Amino acid sequence: MPTILILGASRGLGLEFVRQYAADGWRVLATVRDPAKGRAPSEAGAEIYVCDVGDAASVRRLVSALAGVKLDVVLHNAGIYGEHQEFGSVDPERFLEVVRINALAPLKLAEALVDNLDGRKIFAAVSSLMGSVAENSSGGSYAYRAAKAALNMVIKGLAIDLKDRGVTTVALSPGWVKTDMGGPSAPLSPAEAIAGMKAVLDGLKPADSGALIHYDGRRLPW
Ligand code: NDP
Repeated sequence: MPTILILGASRGLGLEFVRQYAADGWRVLATVRDPAKGRAPSEAGAEIYVCDVGDAASVRRLVSALAGVKLDVVLHNAGIYGEHQEFGSVDPERFLEVVRINALAPLKLAEALVDNLDGRKIFAAVSSLMGSVAENSSGGSYAYRAAKAALNMVIKGLAIDLKDRGVTTVALSPGWVKTDMGGPSAPLSPAEAIAGMKAVLDGLKPADSGALIHYDGRRLPW
């Protein structure tokens, strides 16, 4: 039975990833940062771990709890949008926090969990079309866009650094999805977005390593 670790699974896309992988018979390990929010992913079939991906001590506790556990996929879904990031009102501390959670945390998790992944395995992170420089036609959202662009570069760097260890990396773009972050006007349901991203992961080849891939399978420009 393949095993997936989903980081940030309390709600939204992370919870739907849990549902769909558990329904497919995978062993699903899922993290939440607040233990009280472990109920939904647990009822969906996951084994629950507690981790705040931005807290080094919390990450260390997760890594010890997972010592010796072989993972086929690590999926870093946790992310924040942040406020005060329009031109003229950018809050420096909040900007750095968005980059810390969306780009630095996945890198530190990859460093921490690489031994669990060795050999033809996948490290994926949920990125965004908003992190594509080429796709930016509306400006604004400085922190989120910059953080996801940084994440895309982290994924590319990991593709090179982890190649010899047999780890394939990918940045996934879910589309615009109805969640707390995406809001009610988003055109896609979590079920549609996750089915698409799962298909991308199922078909992923070592040659794809380092790419940014949309939920519909399109490779996106940087
Ligand atoms: P939500 O805001 O609905 O959920 C965010 C998830 O991330 C929650 O489970 C939250 O946990 C978790 N999280 C946030 N910060 C941390 C942290 N420090 N440590 C651990 N977990 C954390 O967002 P979505 O489900 O919509 O988004 C999931 C991912 O998809 C994000 O990376 C987002 O940027 C990306 N994305 C979403 C799009 C959309 O349209 N919805 C579009 C493009 C990308 P908690 O419940 O504890 O807050």
